[in-house]
Amino acid sequence: LTFLGIESSCDDTAAAVVRDDRTILASIVAGQTALHADFGGVVPEIAARAHAEKLDLCVEEALTQAGLRLTDLDGIAVTAGPGLIGGVLSGVMLAKGLAAGSGLPIVGVNHLAGHALTPRLTDAVPYPYLMLLVSGGHCQFLSVAGPDQFTRLGGTIDDAPGEAFDKVAKLLGLPQPGGPSVENVARSGDARRFALPRPLLDRPGCDLSFSGLKTAVLRQRDELVTAQGGLHEQDRADLCAGFQVAVAEVLAEKTRRALALAPAPVLAVAGGVAANETLRTALQTVATNAGAAFLAPPLRLCTDNAAMIAWAGIEAFHSGQRDGMDLAARPRWPLDQNAAPMLGAGK
Ligand code: ATP
Ligand code: FE
Repeated sequence: LTFLGIESSCDDTAAAVVRDDRTILASIVAGQTALHADFGGVVPEIAARAHAEKLDLCVEEALTQAGLRLTDLDGIAVTAGPGLIGGVLSGVMLAKGLAAGSGLPIVGVNHLAGHALTPRLTDAVPYPYLMLLVSGGHCQFLSVAGPDQFTRLGGTIDDAPGEAFDKVAKLLGLPQPGGPSVENVARSGDARRFALPRPLLDRPGCDLSFSGLKTAVLRQRDELVTAQGGLHEQDRADLCAGFQVAVAEVLAEKTRRALALAPAPVLAVAGGVAANETLRTALQTVATNAGAAFLAPPLRLCTDNAAMIAWAGIEAFHSGQRDGMDLAARPRWPLDQNAAPMLGAGK
């Protein structure tokens, strides 16, 4: 099977062609960072317009790179939610148009399922496995037992970790995206200099919280500024190091608990924050101690892309899913239908 994947749920316009033997024939990602830079966040209206303008070009380029025509494919997978509705609609409408013209079946994919199934695109990981999704917009533990069998074990009750990294960078005057800046500056820092909180560690379960940690960094910064009139380079480094270690420690401990709740031979991560070395090392240790393998897909497949959507579409198609012209675009779409509405899903 060969599938086209279409992704447009946030600020990346993406198209990909993927085969069911795990070959990625093409994966095009057109970011919108520059378009939103002046606004301090993703502007839904601008995002929707950019998706509408660029989606068909991305699809064309993906097909050209794969050396295939639409009629050579077996299906079209498209992100049908959750996300910014204007973007999701652009993708779903395009998929319907392409399907109407070619007679190919459509498979509507949950964006989070795309992230959660990525370990099976990069490696032959058997079900079940534990997935930690850590990005700019999401943070949750999922036990993955099949292409549509997800159990949410816990997640953030406020900010996502990537969001916290970005806000900490902002309040320390470091460039965006905050994750890489904070990680860089933290290299020369002493993580023990400031006593930062470890939110929710004293509470049972796998839920997380990052907004208090961010506020604690803000308070420390203000104290330093009041006391010495500004921040020294070393202060910044120490705050970044302390913050980063706190995030890693909390995520590691909650991951340990998640693995105890849902034992699995593989612990996998996805999302941009999974690029963080301190976090990776901490998670590797947790996995090893639980007798599990640790799997972190390459960064380009950890962040938003359409290859993961094509793959999730292939898996869903294999298990019988077919959608029609009535496929709906859904701004909210919890993966685990039994769980309470997703928290921390927005930015
Ligand atoms: P989502 O896909 O959940 O809607 P998103 O598109 O913002 O959210 P990603 O593209 O997966 O998320 O990841 C971007 C986030 O990852 C940013 O918040 C960024 O700061 C963070 N990030 C990137 N690299 C690092 C790093 N080395 N350490 C920590 N965080 C990082
Ligand atoms: Fe995403």
